[in-house]
Amino acid sequence: MAELNETHDPGRRSWVASANASDTDFPIQNLPFGVFRRAGGEPQGGVAIGDRILDLAAALHEGLFEGDAAAAARAAAGDRLNPLMALEPAAASALRRRLSDLLRAGGPDEARAGSLAERLLVPMAEATMELPARIGDYTDFSCSTHHMMRMGGGTVRPVFLHLPVGYHGRASSVRVSGAEVTRPLGQLAGKDGQAIFGPEPQLDFELEFAAFVGRSNALGQPIPIGQAEDHIFGYSLLNDWSARAIQFFEMALGPFLGKSFLTTISPWVVTQEAMAPFRTAAFVRPEADPPIPAYLRSEADRRQGGLDVRLEASLRTGAMRRRGDPPQRIVATNFRHIYWTLAQMLAHHASGGCDMRPGDLVASGTVSGPEDEAKACLMEANERGTRAISLPGGESRMWLEDGDEVLIRGRAERDGFVSIGFGPCDGRVAAAEARA
Ligand code: MN
Repeated sequence: MAELNETHDPGRRSWVASANASDTDFPIQNLPFGVFRRAGGEPQGGVAIGDRILDLAAALHEGLFEGDAAAAARAAAGDRLNPLMALEPAAASALRRRLSDLLRAGGPDEARAGSLAERLLVPMAEATMELPARIGDYTDFSCSTHHMMRMGGGTVRPVFLHLPVGYHGRASSVRVSGAEVTRPLGQLAGKDGQAIFGPEPQLDFELEFAAFVGRSNALGQPIPIGQAEDHIFGYSLLNDWSARAIQFFEMALGPFLGKSFLTTISPWVVTQEAMAPFRTAAFVRPEADPPIPAYLRSEADRRQGGLDVRLEASLRTGAMRRRGDPPQRIVATNFRHIYWTLAQMLAHHASGGCDMRPGDLVASGTVSGPEDEAKACLMEANERGTRAISLPGGESRMWLEDGDEVLIRGRAERDGFVSIGFGPCDGRVAAAEARA
C-alpha cells in the first residue's frame, strides 16, 4: 500500500498558478496520468496540473528525467499508459516524486522547467482526451448492498455477502468522458408479454468507481489479498449506462446487451500513491453477515482498504441546457459505502487463476449508500420505475430522455491534506439510430 511522503505535503504549491486554486481537481498533490492529443496531433501521455497538461515526451526531450523516473516517463509518454501500468509501483512513484519536484514552486528545477513552460504545458482546453489504456478486459462488480437491496425489492441474495459478485463487461465500448451515448435498440418485453425489438425506453446510468490494473499475475497464480493493492495502478470514475428493459428481458445469465452499448470513464487515472491520504477503513459489516473468507481477509485491508471519495451525479436536460440552467445534482454518495474493497475484488477475480493484465478495468458497481440522496442510479431513485424524480423548471424524469446529460464528479478530501479530484465523467444521450 502506498505511503505518505513529501509529494502529499499540503504546503507544496506549484509554479503553474491554476494548480493552486482551491477548487481544482489537479493540484500538485494529485498528478494523474492520461492520454491526450494536441490539435491535429497523435495520442500521447501527459500529467494533469491545474488547467494544463504536462507533455511527457516534451519533458523527456528536454532531458528533465533520469534513472527510474526517466524509464517510467518513457513508459508513460506513448499513446496508451499500459507500459507504465505494467511497471513495479516503485517506478511510478519515482516519476511522481520527480514530477512533483519539477512542478513545485521553489523546487530544484523551477527556473529551468518554468523557462520551458511554453513547450511543456498544453492548455486542457486545447487538448482532446483519449482512453488512458488499451483496456483488454473490463469487469463490472456489484458491491453495494444498498444498491442490491433497492434493486431487489428489499432483499440481498446471500451470495453478495459471500463474495464480490461481478460479470465480464465489454471492453470495446468503453469511451472517455464526452462521448455521445446512442440509445440502444434491443429486445424487450412488450405490453402483451410478447418480445419486441425497439429503442430502450428505460435508459439509466450507474455511478461507479473503477480501478485500472497495474502489474499482471501469471495464469494459474492467484493474487494474494495482501498483495492486491500493489496490482492496482490507479482509479477513475465510471458510468455504467444501463438499458433496463433490455437488461431485465435478457438477463438469464447476467447483463449482456443491456450494458454493452457504451461505458463512460473519466480520462485521468489518479494513482494509488496520490490516494494514500484518503485511505480509510473498509466497510464495517453487520454482525450477522457471513465471515470474510480467508483468501479475502487481511488486517491491513480491513484497516486501510477503503477509500474516502465523495461522488456526485448531476443531470441536465435539453430544456435546462437551452435555458442556460446549471446541471441539477441528483446523487451524492461516497465510495466508503461499498461492501468489498477493490483489493478484495481483484483478489477474488484472480482467485481461480485468471490472469489480470495491465490496463484491465475493474469497476465497483453502483456506489449507493443508505441515504435517499445516495441512490446512485435512476432505478433506485425512481423506486423501480414507480416515482419520477423532479427537476427544476417543472420537468421530471423516470428514465433518461434523448438530449439528457449525466455528469459524474469525484473528490477525495481529508483534513490536513489538499483535496484532489478525478476530472469529468460526462455523457449525453442521443436518439436511437433509425433502423429498418
Ligand atoms: Mn454496474
